[in-house]
Amino acid sequence: MSALACEGLTVGYGGAPVIDALDLDIAEGAVVALLGANGAGKTTLLRALTGLVPLRTGRIALHGRDLTAESTEDRVRSGLALVPEGRSVVVELTVDENLRLGGLWRHRRKALDAAAEDMYALFPALDRRRRAPGHTLSGGERQMLALARALLARPRVLLLDEPSLGLAPKATAQLLGVLRATAARTGLTVLLAEQNVTGALSVADRGVVLSLGAVAADRPAADLAADPALRHAYLGF
Ligand code: ATP
Repeated sequence: MSALACEGLTVGYGGAPVIDALDLDIAEGAVVALLGANGAGKTTLLRALTGLVPLRTGRIALHGRDLTAESTEDRVRSGLALVPEGRSVVVELTVDENLRLGGLWRHRRKALDAAAEDMYALFPALDRRRRAPGHTLSGGERQMLALARALLARPRVLLLDEPSLGLAPKATAQLLGVLRATAARTGLTVLLAEQNVTGALSVADRGVVLSLGAVAADRPAADLAADPALRHAYLGF
């Protein structure tokens, strides 16, 4: 069953399209790494999927339901969530307050308490720092908090923009591990845009390489990781 599908997606900011007639179909429960050189359009695609950048043409469906005409808010209510680049933690609020922001619109108080406890079980590092103000967190902790806040709302499809950016290898491995485990346990579908190709492919089922606004490769993750020519051509190493 398709969780997220786009057809003929064209997106741009005025000049030539950044994403050009792109087709992509992601199966329910899959973890897909979205790869591509700097400026390939990964962020633009994620923003277009969530309605933050308008489409020039194309259609987007979530679990078979067309949401092309829906607002960002309605897409989120339908189960689509984006963790944008840059760990958007509110630095004046505590870890617990930041976490609960993710569920304010969805959960009643008791359900919110339970959902927050689920997240603390998943992220022990956050559990230990519940009362800590956001500004005291490390980069890794902030990224975990941003992920926990998104998961709290129980999305069905999660889009992540470069969660490993600026993180130490250990924090990156921890974060990607939680993501993989959550997808396996809950059937969450994940589209993970990453410059960290090796890390992303190590947790993904499938890798999609963007180049010049189109899909240059779409292969099983292990297959892509083992193809040096392809890595060299599109990913710069
Ligand atoms: P990175 O890994 O560097 O974030 P990316 O693959 O996410 O790259 P995008 O950020 O989507 O790529 O950028 C794709 C292209 O669109 C780039 O050429 C960029 O300059 C351009 N672009 C991105 N955002 C805007 C904007 N708001 N206005 C105009 N052009 C933009």
